[in-house]
Formats: sequence, structure tokens, C-alpha cells
Amino acid sequence: MSQPIYDDENIFAKILRGEIPCNKVDECDHTLSFHDIQPQAPVHVLVIPKGPYVNMTDFSEKAPPEAQAAYIAALGRVAKMVGVAEDGYRLIANTGTNGHQDVPHLHVHIMGGQPLGRMMPSAH
Ligand code: AMP
Repeated sequence: MSQPIYDDENIFAKILRGEIPCNKVDECDHTLSFHDIQPQAPVHVLVIPKGPYVNMTDFSEKAPPEAQAAYIAALGRVAKMVGVAEDGYRLIANTGTNGHQDVPHLHVHIMGGQPLGRMMPSAH
């Protein structure tokens, strides 16, 4: 399946261009991490690549290996920085329509700071 065209006007693209602020946690050459504006857990941080990738499928197909490696490294580094690595946390990458993705720029949610329950409480 082909990936949707990247929309330069999405909110995370604007954050990356410095057009709107974010509450930054971490930054490297390839990634930016910041607190979610509507946290759904005591710790709720978003990790995004600096390149224009719509979702994980797009990123895995098109991002250069150094950007992919840096992204994985950022997830682990930021989890430690925000203090959830020891007690545990959840990574979520909502993707596309069925994944209920609102912002069309790849982002992984790092959530933790309390027990998060089952992954999908409504599932049997
Ligand atoms: P998703 O449904 O996975 O696309 O989630 C998008 C996330 O981005 C939501 O958790 C929003 O609260 C978060 N969000 C939207 N705008 C901002 C913003 N300006 N700064 C930080 N987080 C944001």
C-alpha cells in the first residue's frame, strides 16, 4: 500500500520549524521529544523524527539507516530521562485510520508513571 503524501502544515511540522512552541524533553540531530499537550498518563512524551514521515511504515521504508537507528536510540534514552524505564512504560504508535492517528507525522507516545492496565481494556 502506498503511503499518504506528507502534509507540511501538520502541527508537528510546525513545531519542528519553530513556528509553535513545545515543552521539549530531548533533541538530537534526528529526533525531537516533547511532552504531550493533553497527557493521558503521569508521564506522556512524544518522540518524533525530524524528517517528513507520515507514519512508521513510511519511516521504515524511506528513512536512512542512521535516522532509524537514532529514532530507536531516542525512545530508550527519553524513557530513561523521564524516569519510566525502571518501573515500565508503554510505547504507542497510532497509525492511519484504524490506528486512530490524529497527527500525520510519525510519533511514538511514551506513557508511564503508573500502572497502565491492559493494552486494550475493551478487548476480550
Ligand atoms: P495521535 O492520535 O497518536 O495522532 O496523537 C496525537 C497526540 O498529539 C495527542 O496525544 C495530542 O494530545 C498531541 N498533541 C497535539 N498537538 C500537540 C502539541 N501542540 N504539543 C504537544 N502534543 C500535541
